[in-house]
Formats: sequence, C-alpha cells, structure tokens
Amino acid sequence: MYRTHTCGELVISNKGEKVTLSGWIQRSRDLGGMTFVDLRDRYGITQLVFNLEINSDLCMQARKLGREFVVQVTGIVAERSNKNPRLATGDIEIIAENITVLNTSDIPPFTIEENTDGGDELRMKYRYLDLRRQNVRSNIILRHKMAQEVRRYLDGQGFIEVETPVLIKSTPEGARDYVVPSRLHHGEFYALPQSPQTFKQLLMVAGFDKYFQIVKCFRDEDLRADRQPEFTQIDCEMSFVHQDDILSTFEGLARHLFREIKGIEFDGPFPRISYDEAMRNYGSDKPDIRFGMKIIEITEAVRGKNFAVFDSAEYVGGICASRCAEYTRRQLDELTEFVKRPQIGAKGLVYARVEADGSVKSSIDKFYSADDLKRFADIMKATEGDLLLIMAGNKEKTLAALGELRLELGRRLGYRDASSYSPLWVTDFPLLEWDEETKRFYAKHHPFTAPKPEDMEYMRTNPGRVHANAYDLVINGTEIGGGSIRIHDPETQSLMFKTLGLSDEEAQKQFGFLLNAFRYGAPPHGGIAFGFDRWAAMLGGSETIRDFIAFPKNNQARDIMIDTPSSIKQEQLDELGIEIKKEKK
Ligand code: ASP
Repeated sequence: MYRTHTCGELVISNKGEKVTLSGWIQRSRDLGGMTFVDLRDRYGITQLVFNLEINSDLCMQARKLGREFVVQVTGIVAERSNKNPRLATGDIEIIAENITVLNTSDIPPFTIEENTDGGDELRMKYRYLDLRRQNVRSNIILRHKMAQEVRRYLDGQGFIEVETPVLIKSTPEGARDYVVPSRLHHGEFYALPQSPQTFKQLLMVAGFDKYFQIVKCFRDEDLRADRQPEFTQIDCEMSFVHQDDILSTFEGLARHLFREIKGIEFDGPFPRISYDEAMRNYGSDKPDIRFGMKIIEITEAVRGKNFAVFDSAEYVGGICASRCAEYTRRQLDELTEFVKRPQIGAKGLVYARVEADGSVKSSIDKFYSADDLKRFADIMKATEGDLLLIMAGNKEKTLAALGELRLELGRRLGYRDASSYSPLWVTDFPLLEWDEETKRFYAKHHPFTAPKPEDMEYMRTNPGRVHANAYDLVINGTEIGGGSIRIHDPETQSLMFKTLGLSDEEAQKQFGFLLNAFRYGAPPHGGIAFGFDRWAAMLGGSETIRDFIAFPKNNQARDIMIDTPSSIKQEQLDELGIEIKKEKK
C-alpha cells in the first residue's frame, strides 16, 4: 500500500496514528538538529519532521532528498508546536520513522510554487511540472467541476450527449479549417470541425430533440491575443423551440453554474437588449454592463456652429464620466492617445467639464457659446463635476471608438471588478454583414441562421436590413456564447446560400447532405454554443484561457512541450501523396 492518507487529509484528530503518505518533496529545511520536509500531492501539503538526535541515519537520508523526489513516508501524526493556519494540515506534522525514495528527480527548471520564477515559455515546455503548482491545478479542477455541472444540468433538462465526428468536411463558421490529408484518397482532405454545427442540426432532423456535447473545435485563425487553435465548446441544440425557449433554458444553465461553482445567485431575469441598442448605447455587441456611462448621440445638437469637424461628421456622440471633471491635462492627453491608437483609429477627442458653478469649460469654446455647451451637457445628463468626452466621424467607427473609450474609463475608474458578474442577452443580430473589400455579404453568425420571419420579404430586395433570431450571452464585456434559430427548409437554405454568393452547384456540393436532410421532415430547431475555456477562465477570475487548458498552444499556435507542428517523414508524405513546396528564398 503506497499510502493510508493523502497529503491534504490529516488533522489534529488523527494525532497518534501511524500513517503512510506518498508524494513529492516540495521543499526541505534543516534547522539545527531537525529537518522539516513539505510533502505535496494533489490534495495538499503535509509537514514531515526528522530529528537528528533520535534517528540520525533517517535524518541524514532525508537531508539528501532533492526537490520533486517522489517518496513514501511512514510515521506518527503529532501536534505541531508551531501551527500554520494557512494549511488544512497545519495543526499536525508527521514524525517520520521510515522513508523510501520511489523516484528521484532532476532539479526542476523553475520553482513549483504559486509564485514561480519560471517564465511563460519555460513553464509551457515543462507543463507537467507547471501543472503541479497548486494554482494551475486548481484551475483545471474548476474546469472539471464545471463540466460535471454542465452535464448534471443538461441531463436534468432531458438533453442527450452525442459525440460527433472529428474528421469531417469543412463547416463554414467563418475561420480557416484545419485539414487532414487522406491516405486512401490522394488529393482529398478531411477538415477538422470548427464546430459540430451541421451534425447537431442533423441530430434534430433525426428526432433527438435535445442534444449537447462538450466538444473540441478547431479554427485556424490569425492569432489574436488569447485565442487557441483548438478550444472547447458546450454545444447544444433543441427542436420545436422559439428564441425564448432557448434563452430561458440556457439562462438556467448559466444560473446553475454560477450557483454551483461560485455560490452566486442573480436577482431577476438577465437583461435582454437588441444588437442595435447595444451598438447605440455601448458601441459594442458585447457590452460590459457592470457600469453605466452609456454613449449619447448629439449629432443634431452640435450642427450649424461652424465647427467643421462636427458639421461634416455623420455622427457625433460622447460619454459622461461622473466626477471626472478634475482630470488633469495629462490624464486627458492619455485618453486622447488611447483613442488614437491604430486599433481604435480615432482622430481625436473633444472634452468638456462641468465646473462646480454649473458652467461648462470645453476644448471647443471657440465655436460654442456658454449656453450651447450647457445644452449639450444637459442632453448628456452631465452635472457639476462631470467630464464629457466627445468624438465625431463615421457612425460605426465612432461608436466603436467610444465603446473602447468607455471600457478604458470603466477600467480606470475601477468599475470592472473581476469578482462581480453582469450577464445579459444580446438579441436580434443582423443576419448578414456586407464586406466592402470582397463586395459581398457574409453570414454574421453562420449560414444556417434563419432570417426573422417578419424580415423574410427583404431577403431578395434588401438583405442588409434582415435581422435574425440570433443571440449572444455576454458577461462582463465578453461573449460567452452565441446561437440562433436555424433555417429548417431547403428553399430558405438555398436562398441563404445564394445570398452569400454560393451557386446552386457549390451549395449542393458542400452542403447537399443538409439540404437533402431538410427534405425529410426537419423540425423547427435552434441552438447555442458556449466557449467553455473562456467561461472557465471567467469563473476562475482570469482573462487567460490558457491557464484553464491542461496542455495549451502558445501564441504561435505551437505546442512547445511536444514540439509541434513538426515535419513528418518522407515515407508518410509519400503515402499521403503530398509533396512539400520548397520555400521561396
Ligand atoms: N456553431 C455556432 C458557433 O460555434 C454556435 C451555434 O450556432 O450554435 O459559434
């Protein structure tokens, strides 16, 4: 028997018991005639004591143990004189009687402690050592608990977990596919699923009614911060449902997870706002509503006073930062620099402060009278001590820039506290998105999303104004999940493909299986998928999904531990009928 107890288990009531523990040497300290060793396993840390006077051989043996050696120790549980309230086992220690080295260890390349000295790359290269650190391990355990709770809730609601294939045909979720060459069929490829979208819809055609899967998805995207080429979704689909049915079922899932994992109860239903409203008020389709500071449009109010920047702008709007009138020149310059960053791309920022006497001082005093400025302040609901930040230009871009500025101010003002959560549903997304570069429509969600019945008439005449019953669950400014009511008849699906510039022939070639399935009595259906890694990170109070994935890729899409992607043998290439192009010098 390797152990009678774990390293996180023994307490004062075990005093006097003879026990055996197995684990890793976290650290050891020699203090005069005594050697103290911290023994660690998944469950915790227990202190071992060796006394030079009582058992010098054993003590000398203990002194030779290196960090991360794996040992088995037998001894007697004793009360500690120097208790450690931060450890669950902090009241006791083990007076060692016998120790066996089960395995030695090289000196680890970084310290296996909460605050390690290991840099990112090093920790990823030795991820199995990194995972020994308590904080990293607890992230993975939180993820495990979430997965169990997801299954418990969805099973309770009658959902059936079905696995869908990984070697499939391209699914158009908007990213590039990872592809796998076929050995049996040279020149042909499988694609790894960007999501099980078409399969879950086929399961609805098959009558499964409620499906879910916690599933790996693969998207070969350009690596933006905190994206992983392979990530996990909680993927769900339901039949005979309207948007409301889906939102209430999955609001239930969200509540269940927050309750079970964080002990948080939300009062009242999650707010629901339309996409248009989100863009208008927050300049974003994933608003952080932990704080107000909504964007207010003043385009008409500022016109006609010969200020060319405002007069010529399609849109003028701003935000009112309460009690920020005191902002110094330097703070205002910083905000201006912030909005001028290339990612945001604004030309500048106009500001106005409401002074203690109610008068308004502004950087555009030359063009606007004291009364004009007071009027703007009134429209923007600013009172004494408030600061107005105003931007102008193209409507879409200006709203987006104001949205970013709002978030930055919220961060500076401490409104974006990671331990408070504000979920909401954003609904009624546009069905399509026009791309100026390629001069065509793209599906805003994906091509299986149904147009709203009342907008159906515009599908042929003005597709840009068609909305969809598509929705996102947004928490703290992060999109946690999204889905839609689907098309379930072949005609609408063909029309959608056509609108996206796919010929009948191409549509048949790529999605013939789905169009065919829709001919055999497809029920009305809809679904949603949640980003499991991101949700875990959020519940873990982190912004980094990598910390919640046992073996993540780095930001070059590499796994530096197993060293991949990597070349394969010529033999393998020959079998696959693949020739690698010489890189151009
Ligand atoms: N397949 C979609 C996605 O991955 C989610 C859905 O529509 O259910 O974003």
